[in-house]
Amino acid sequence: MPIHRHADPSYDVVIVGARAAGAATAYLLARSGLRVLLVDRGRYGTDTLSTHALMRGGVLQLSRWGLLEKIIAAGTPPVRRATFRYAGAVVPVTIKPAHGVDALYAPRRTVLDPILVDAAAASDADVRFGIAVADLDRDRRGAVTGLAGRTRDGEAFQARARIVVGADGIRSTVAERACAPFERVGTSATAVTYGYWSGLQTDGYEWNFRPNAASGVIPTTNGQACVFASAPPRRIGRGGLAPLTQIVAESSADLAVRLAAAVPPRALRTFTGRPGHMRRSWGPGWALVGDAGYFKDPLTAHGLTDALRDAELLARGIIAVAADGVDERDALASYQMTRDALSTALFDVTGVIAGHRWTDEEIPSLLLQLNTAMTGEVQALAGLPPLPPPPDRHQLFKENLDVQPARIPFA
Ligand SMILES: Cc1cc2nc3c(=O)[nH]c(=O)nc-3n(C[C@H](O)[C@H](O)[C@H](O)COP(=O)(O)OP(=O)(O)OC[C@H]3O[C@@H](n4cnc5c(N)ncnc54)[C@H](O)[C@@H]3O)c2cc1C
Repeated sequence: MPIHRHADPSYDVVIVGARAAGAATAYLLARSGLRVLLVDRGRYGTDTLSTHALMRGGVLQLSRWGLLEKIIAAGTPPVRRATFRYAGAVVPVTIKPAHGVDALYAPRRTVLDPILVDAAAASDADVRFGIAVADLDRDRRGAVTGLAGRTRDGEAFQARARIVVGADGIRSTVAERACAPFERVGTSATAVTYGYWSGLQTDGYEWNFRPNAASGVIPTTNGQACVFASAPPRRIGRGGLAPLTQIVAESSADLAVRLAAAVPPRALRTFTGRPGHMRRSWGPGWALVGDAGYFKDPLTAHGLTDALRDAELLARGIIAVAADGVDERDALASYQMTRDALSTALFDVTGVIAGHRWTDEEIPSLLLQLNTAMTGEVQALAGLPPLPPPPDRHQLFKENLDVQPARIPFA
């Protein structure tokens, strides 16, 4: 992976967390000419605890950014149908071509995240793995001016930036150090256990909903299908094949038969559940994107799509500050306002579905609400104008040209 090192180690934006939200934000900012540092405490190209079904809004974003071709070239199969089973009904839905998207995709995180990181690096972002951020630096008025942490080798690490972005996931250190308050907290936490089956007969996404037992199939790379079971934590326990098989049998006898004929995984991964949150996502010199600012239960499979959506909403705000002199507070407040307007209905209905606070009679109308929220999101994304072309780098954040170089020990 290319790593670009700028001669001047002060940055317009430093982003913590190099996965869906952070790497996408870095890519969009760097390709607009900003000096961007992207850091992550983990390793490049690794997996993470997450299934990976993208909804239309997420695929639309990758397509608009010119990255969908890479996802397809990596062997990610197109998903042209979704089948919903609930309350005794089987409802197949064909994915109709719209807004330049004629199929959905579910790339493994080992495919999606590195493609975003590579795109950021190829656009001149400085990318560094093995940096664990522990704190934020502030000026006398309390505005965030940079961050501090340690390299994997234990060396102190510091970087200065006009804006620090926390894309560091559910337990965001940036959010905590910025004292970002929770503005909405979910009322339920559902557990998920999942694994990868080979040779499973399937024809696209499958979502099965019964009270206290949901399951599904997400076709992905290497001819494998991710099969998951989602239920109140007491039903999943430590996860594994036994609870998954039981929950699949309760939610879809048809999937249970096909699963029995396929090759099961050696091991499954389990998420023990966590209530959703929406945090205040900006302040002087800082912003949050992705799960750091807005997390909801995985059952509606929408976190990645929202991370890709919000990466662009935030990047547009920061570009407006840097290139057009828009007031930082106005730009960041407007970012959060748009994010919340597009998210609140989805957040609330996800909470109800994931909380299994519904009957067989009620689930169809909840899924309809979910679909309506997603349709609004897609329309909003499709209506965005193209991102502006890269301006002259020296016209951006002019005042930054005078700052002292940051202390960044390039190992
Ligand atoms: C079980 C499960 C299933 C899911 N299934 C789906 C699905 O099918 N579809 C979907 O759209 N969404 C799904 N999601 C949600 C999705 O995983 C998240 O919304 C998505 O990962 C958010 O991306 P992110 O970039 O914000 O954060 P993350 O992917 O969590 O990345 C955060 C990064 O920050 C780094 N980091 C953290 N702290 C620090 C620090 N202090 N210093 C430096 N680096 C740091 C981490 O190493 C990590 O790489 C699922 C989630 C779970 C838990």
